[in-house]
Amino acid sequence: MKKILLLQTGGTIAMQLESGGPELDSESWNELLHNEIPELSQIAHLTTENVFFEDSSDVNHTHWKLLAETIQKNYQNFDGFVVLHGTDTMAYTTSALSFALQNLGKPVIFTGSQVPMSNLRSDARRNLVNAVELSTFPIPEVAICFNDHLFRGNRSTKMSIGDFDAFASPNFEPLAEVGLEIKLSQHILKKENNLICSPIFRDDLFVLKLHPNLKPSFLDCLDLDHIKVLVLEAFGSGNMPIKGDYNLLPFLDKCRDHGVHVIITSQAAYDSVTLDQYSSGREAKRRGALSAGPMTMEATVTKAMFLLGLGFNEQEFRTKFEASLSGER
Ligand code: ASP
Repeated sequence: MKKILLLQTGGTIAMQLESGGPELDSESWNELLHNEIPELSQIAHLTTENVFFEDSSDVNHTHWKLLAETIQKNYQNFDGFVVLHGTDTMAYTTSALSFALQNLGKPVIFTGSQVPMSNLRSDARRNLVNAVELSTFPIPEVAICFNDHLFRGNRSTKMSIGDFDAFASPNFEPLAEVGLEIKLSQHILKKENNLICSPIFRDDLFVLKLHPNLKPSFLDCLDLDHIKVLVLEAFGSGNMPIKGDYNLLPFLDKCRDHGVHVIITSQAAYDSVTLDQYSSGREAKRRGALSAGPMTMEATVTKAMFLLGLGFNEQEFRTKFEASLSGER
């Protein structure tokens, strides 16, 4: 039987909704796990460890580092890893780990739930059983298991606040579908040897979401001497206002003069940013803006933070950002 390490990091799956509000309690959650889902022991030999215990809104790069290092420390002793995590920022953590854990040879499967495990009609049980089972398959990827689907972690995004079908990977087919049988995709990454763990992320990054009528003068307060990357969530294929009072091109000039990398993502979840398609994208590209292509916001942000952490010079950063490091584009 495969040896799987189950890492607890918090989230709704572990909350208790009695006494008026969600409370995180790691001890009672572990007890619940062993009492309520005894069949997990028929799927794998499970060992559990609490890494941290947070609502995922409070998870940041220091937690990503801790998690990556915990996996690295236990890597030789287990066949796979399951991580229980809040859904709100799960796709950020999975994206971050997909970059921090290069040359992965074993599954790292994240899951959580929309309803706490302690509730009668919870999705926790199904998600957890599926995640543990999938962690015994040859899937050497950081992935999200939710509602009978397995998605590549750095292609995933949270789509729904209340529905059990909370995640999707808009520009990439699921890695697996769980029905009567488990169907694996042809596009699972190849198993690699010699894991490399590089969990250093820098946080000198700012995300700016465009809307019609965004006043460029409001952007004057941004401290471009300390921001290294500005992610611009633009319209459609990567477009922005370039006329009149709302023209953003002088702001892009200012970013370039301060040595800030500008990365253009889209407010549309499906398909790819293509800066050559319209004149505003072309103008941005002429000013050095990079395209996030089909990447999710989560992958774009964490990849930029990861590349900053590796300390690349300007050209190396651009080359690495435009390449696919872990199947994210
Ligand atoms: N706020 C929770 C979290 O992300 C939501 C969830 O787990 O579904 O930790």
